[in-house]
Amino acid sequence: MEHHELLIEAQMPGEVLYVCSRPDCGRRLVAGVDGLTVIDKGDFFATHSGGSPGLRMNVSVIR
Ligand SMILES: [Zn+2]
Repeated sequence: MEHHELLIEAQMPGEVLYVCSRPDCGRRLVAGVDGLTVIDKGDFFATHSGGSPGLRMNVSVIR
C-alpha cells in the first residue's frame, strides 16, 4: 500500500488545510474541531499522514 505525506498548506484558528505532497494524487482535506473534511479524494487507496505538533493526535493516520 502506498503511503503519502500530507503538507500543511494553510493554517487558521481551529482549522488546518492539508495537501498531499504527491502532485499526481492531489488529496486535500481540512482538519478542524469537528473532525476531518475531505475536499479532494485524490488516491483513495493510499494512506495519508501528516500534521502539526498540536494536531498530530487528530490526523496521525488519514484515509
Ligand atoms: Zn496522496
